[in-house]
Amino acid sequence: MFNAIVINKEEAGYRSAVQQIDESMLSPGDVLVQVDFSTLNYKDGLAITGKGSVVRQFPMVPGIDLVGTVVSSEHAGSKPGDKVILNGFGVGENHTGGLAQRARVKGEWLVPLPDFTPAQAMAIGTAGFTAMLCVMALERQGIKPGMGDILVTGAAGGVGSVAVSLLAELGYRVLASTGRVQEADYLTSLGAAEIISRNSLNASGKPLAKERWVGAVDTVGSHTLANVCAATRYRGVVTACGLAQGMDLPASVAPFILRGITLVGIDSVQCPMADRREAWQRLARDLNPVHIEQFTTTIGLNEAINKAAELLAGTVRGRVVVDVNL
Ligand code: NDP
Repeated sequence: MFNAIVINKEEAGYRSAVQQIDESMLSPGDVLVQVDFSTLNYKDGLAITGKGSVVRQFPMVPGIDLVGTVVSSEHAGSKPGDKVILNGFGVGENHTGGLAQRARVKGEWLVPLPDFTPAQAMAIGTAGFTAMLCVMALERQGIKPGMGDILVTGAAGGVGSVAVSLLAELGYRVLASTGRVQEADYLTSLGAAEIISRNSLNASGKPLAKERWVGAVDTVGSHTLANVCAATRYRGVVTACGLAQGMDLPASVAPFILRGITLVGIDSVQCPMADRREAWQRLARDLNPVHIEQFTTTIGLNEAINKAAELLAGTVRGRVVVDVNL
């Protein structure tokens, strides 16, 4: 028996609790992993609280990320003792996930732990991985340091914090948009050059605005993303990865047809393995380890359920690592 968070669907809604379970509750797979750490991402918050239809079958062990050690494997790519990371692929949604001391998963989903400690890998997690995918997308579209400012929205959140840190470390001048002015010092310490109030971007705006940034990482969606596009410089690039404000996109085509901007969609869940490995390697190379400490809080499995609600309320700063053995 081992500890896990289990989500059950009841008439009154979802009920999440830490329980003792055995391996018969785990989804099928060819690799058994002893989990060291998982994390809390926005999607885990939606799953644990039931505020979003993320979980596809019940009972479910949430946790879209995990790092741990292979216990047994029938997959050619993994052997007992290997240190591995898993993020995405529907784990914690339709396949039992990382918020447990053990996980049974598909070997083809696993990435070897790069040059990080297990705790550092989960301090990055899906959120940090997604931030890296955004940075790689900006680069692939030709954006380089020195071309102009890069905006990050939802900057004090998980994806936002890692994006600010990464971009600043790579030499970009970063504008951090946040609803929490009290986190200005924190964002500056991660490398933000300027803080922008979330309120200047989150209401219905004009189809085109003054050109302000050459690139953007948007974690917020809705009016914010529309306004981000409207103020993107000629031939600039916006990466869209999140929906913290909303799933809608009340925008016009004006920035696309008059300024030739590019909007790039970012998905971490089904991201192909080549990009996945590249992103993790890049994180190991480009992310400042001091910043990892700065943007991370570590909690135990028992605290994760309450923390999930705080995360959705937008009051959690940076990243939350869950030590499943605490
Ligand atoms: P967090 O909860 O850590 O951060 C979200 C941040 O968004 C908050 O900290 C806050 O930042 C801002 N925010 C919250 N509510 C609002 C609002 N109503 N209007 C404007 N801004 C708001 O979540 P994550 O960083 O883990 O995830 C961010 C988004 O990215 C989520 O929507 C998530 O679903 C998505 N995501 C997508 C992935 C993909 O594969 N495409 C992968 C990972 C995440 P501040 O206080 O600074 O304003």
